[in-house]
Amino acid sequence: MRNCEVTLPKGIFVLSLDVELCWGTIDKPDKLKNTIKYYTQSRDCIEKILKLVEKYNISATWAVVGHLFLKECNSINGQKHSDIPRSTYPWYSKDWFEESPCTNEEDAPLWYGQDIIKMITNCKVRQEIACHSFAHIPYGDENTKRETVQADLSNCIQEAEKEGLKLRSFVFPRNNVGYIDEVKNYGFEAYRGAEPTWYRGFPNKRRKVCHIIDQLLAMSPPVGLPEYEQGIYNIPGSMLYRSMNGFRSLIPLKSKIHKARRGIRRAIRDKKIFHLWFHPFNIATNQEKLLYGLEEMFKEVCAKRENGELEIKSMDEIVDLIKYI
Ligand SMILES: [Zn+2]
Ligand SMILES: [Zn+2]
Repeated sequence: MRNCEVTLPKGIFVLSLDVELCWGTIDKPDKLKNTIKYYTQSRDCIEKILKLVEKYNISATWAVVGHLFLKECNSINGQKHSDIPRSTYPWYSKDWFEESPCTNEEDAPLWYGQDIIKMITNCKVRQEIACHSFAHIPYGDENTKRETVQADLSNCIQEAEKEGLKLRSFVFPRNNVGYIDEVKNYGFEAYRGAEPTWYRGFPNKRRKVCHIIDQLLAMSPPVGLPEYEQGIYNIPGSMLYRSMNGFRSLIPLKSKIHKARRGIRRAIRDKKIFHLWFHPFNIATNQEKLLYGLEEMFKEVCAKRENGELEIKSMDEIVDLIKYI
């Protein structure tokens, strides 16, 4: 079944955030040690981002790792989350849940996040709670088994239901798309596909060089239309609002802002979607600058909304809009 694109009445700005605390590095313990200082600031960043979306009346999509719905969990006979059949990977020798402490939110606040979900749902401007898998398993990896995905999805849905939430949008861990049919079968209506950048198909090294050039020159990011394929909409990403640590600090903030402005203008011109995304911890790498940059982007989208050129929507609102076109 091939995709079918829709036409939109005007350009749309969508913001999606991947909320995962430690889970993004569950299979990378060394990276976890280096980045934990940013994860510990995630709650603070989320609070500040929420203040901004409230100030500018922006409904965003928060794709939350399902395990963050829990307040506590424990291992039974040394087995953690034994209801999730394991997939094994040649690049990771340990059990997938090895690094997760499986205790409770007081002892391990970076592995639980009920308070974060409350913070988001309590925002005065409506925010969408979406799904970023239960345990950040790479669905698109060739070693990931179907039964792992099914149990992972089922856990997310059950935990969200306990909070009275229906999950409608999905963000694949590492944007590694796989088992779309299962995601659809578990009731999801949309997912965020990877950015269709101009250097996407290049070999690894060349891709990295092109990526840096692209960022430094603040080249216009891709804008897209939702694609309906296998019974679910792909609302592709346009631009990752990146961290400012290590070599990434070489990309000046003004290039990021300029790039986003280009994306916004392009979305208006082509009547397409400019889809900005990031993780709250990205902001922690330079809170002052990155929050300033985000606010500049919000000012721009709001000015365009005021004069009727652009709409601002969460992913589930885009699905609702398309259904009525
Ligand atoms: Zn657990
Ligand atoms: Zn992630």
